Amino acid sequence: TQTPPETNDPTVERTLVLVKPDGVRRGLSGEVLRRVEAKGYTLVAVELLDATPGLLAEHYAEHVGKEFYQPLVDFMMSGPILAVAIEGQRVVEGFRSLAGATDGTLASPGTIRGDFARSWGSKVMQNIVHGSDSPESAAREIALWFPKL
Ligand code: UDP
Repeated sequence: TQTPPETNDPTVERTLVLVKPDGVRRGLSGEVLRRVEAKGYTLVAVELLDATPGLLAEHYAEHVGKEFYQPLVDFMMSGPILAVAIEGQRVVEGFRSLAGATDGTLASPGTIRGDFARSWGSKVMQNIVHGSDSPESAAREIALWFPKL
């Protein structure tokens, strides 16, 4: 086991993880949580929910208008999503590392996407998980998905 983070440790931060509808559908929610916990991160909040167009427009604000945006929204609304807020030292970078590259075909084996996702012809990449890309994004996204936190 690892030394638990000190409460005043400035490297402790939070990030938002989403198990996307493909991951939930394929029964990979537990596998994602298992990897997060095995790495030494702490679960702060977990909720299974259905995304709405408004929530996704805010969550994916940087992608609104791109070619893959509407297919992405349709995919993200194709079934329930497991939203998870997690905490730990350098967890934003750390979870991105666990998740692997966006394109599951190219993601390294050993990562969540590399082990469980493939991408092929269609415009939208079904890649099992989302992880915030910076501490600023994480704060914004956690407020969106967990307004009570
Ligand atoms: N995406 C896609 N096609 C693209 C780029 C992105 O389908 O050409 C989807 C994919 O599901 C990805 C999400 O949009 O995870 C957000 O894209 P981003 O570039 O932020 O990748 P991420 O941070 O999720 O790796």
